[in-house]
Amino acid sequence: MLWNWSDQKKKNMEFGNRKKSKLIISPTGLLIFLLVMIFLIELSIMLVLNFYRLSRQEILVTILDSIILTVIFYPIIYFLVYRPFLMLLREVKEKEAKTEILATDLEKFKMAVDYTFDHIVITDPDGIALHVNHGVEHMTGFSRNEIIGKKVGTKELWGGLMGQAFYKKFWKTIKYDKKVFVGEINNRRKNGEEYAAQISVSPVLSKDQRVLYFVGIERDITEEKRIDKAKTEIISLASHQLLTPLTAIKWYVEMLTSGDVGKLTDNQQKYAEEINRGNQRMIDLVKSLLNVSRIELGTLTIVPKETQIIDIAKSLINEFISQIDSKKQKIIEKYEKLPKILIDPKLMRMIIQNILSNAIKYTPEKGTITIKIENKSQNALITISDTGYGIPSKQQSQIFQKLFRADNARQKDTEGTGLGLYIVKAIVEQSGGKIWFDSMENKGSTFYVTMPLIGMVKKEGTKFLENIK
Ligand code: ADP
Repeated sequence: MLWNWSDQKKKNMEFGNRKKSKLIISPTGLLIFLLVMIFLIELSIMLVLNFYRLSRQEILVTILDSIILTVIFYPIIYFLVYRPFLMLLREVKEKEAKTEILATDLEKFKMAVDYTFDHIVITDPDGIALHVNHGVEHMTGFSRNEIIGKKVGTKELWGGLMGQAFYKKFWKTIKYDKKVFVGEINNRRKNGEEYAAQISVSPVLSKDQRVLYFVGIERDITEEKRIDKAKTEIISLASHQLLTPLTAIKWYVEMLTSGDVGKLTDNQQKYAEEINRGNQRMIDLVKSLLNVSRIELGTLTIVPKETQIIDIAKSLINEFISQIDSKKQKIIEKYEKLPKILIDPKLMRMIIQNILSNAIKYTPEKGTITIKIENKSQNALITISDTGYGIPSKQQSQIFQKLFRADNARQKDTEGTGLGLYIVKAIVEQSGGKIWFDSMENKGSTFYVTMPLIGMVKKEGTKFLENIK
């Protein structure tokens, strides 16, 4: 579409140029022609009128007089009057052509905005609607007349369904930070039906950085959300069904390997342990999938209790010590004094367990892992760093995505699921904390988690997350 526009514009420009060249050549040619004609007429009149009365010398003087008049006087007129007039005329024509192109472009742009399927609203800095396209009418059910001049996204006009915190963040981002807000929102159509939308609202700034307008674009994702939810429910159901037989296999294999039903030969023992390992991997994967579905279906429960994060870290290091020792890795612990805080100990354990197990997994033998817990500006800051393989810089933006594994991790460890960090991020964010990392390939990675000292926000879900070893 845009390509066509610029192409058309180019054609228009060419068209304008052609017109321009005609304008320059033809009047100049005409002027020269007129000058010659005037000169000849003037000369003829002089000669006819005076032919019999003039001497030969006087005739020559008359001819010379006419030539001088034509050569000096007319060029002066040409440069002082005619040429500036011609240039002025040309400028006016060019401006006219440019305005015409602009007007056509603007009209095309307006039409494109008006007929775009997505909802587009232009508002003033207070959110009062100045322009709405057909998409808005179609998506919300309100007519243009009902919208223009009113504040959009309020209870009166399709909004007001999100919590206070959402709108606070929204206005802070677009009005005070003057940045683009991108997110998902639930709104209500005129007929009362709720819909989910992906929104992006951008401030349009003046040269002195004042907000002039906001341009809001919404895309209805209700149907996509419904399909996603159905998929998640299937995964949840399937994982749940798989977990029961897998757990039964685990018990039976453990009975075999422990000799409860008779001693196994060395080979039988080896094979039974292999079955146990493979089965455990499947159990971990199925539990991760269950956790993902519970997080996505919004059924996660958070039960905050007075907890000491440092105790959780210490007990996890104890659990991992045999793995650390077998890779001859060094572990450094640095703990600052930290009060007990109201957090869900099981969720906190999952967060540290996941990051710590990754640090061990993605660090080669004899590497160093450091865990630090500090009391930093109303937050507990947990830092876990390693001297391992690191994350390739071009893949760092995808690290918290579901099922994503970096190329170097896939080569070194074929068993990961790519679900751990996705789950950790969801838990941290749903608990009011933050998570981020620094990493350099072949140098190491550092993961940071903050948890507010005021504790996690209680959440009355229907399901707890499965603990994965
Ligand atoms: P998994 O470890 O099962 O693959 P995760 O979700 O825990 O899944 O991690 C996702 C990806 O992030 C890993 O596959 C790996 O590429 C990268 N990663 C996470 N932690 C580290 C780390 N400490 N060092 C290097 N890469 C890491």
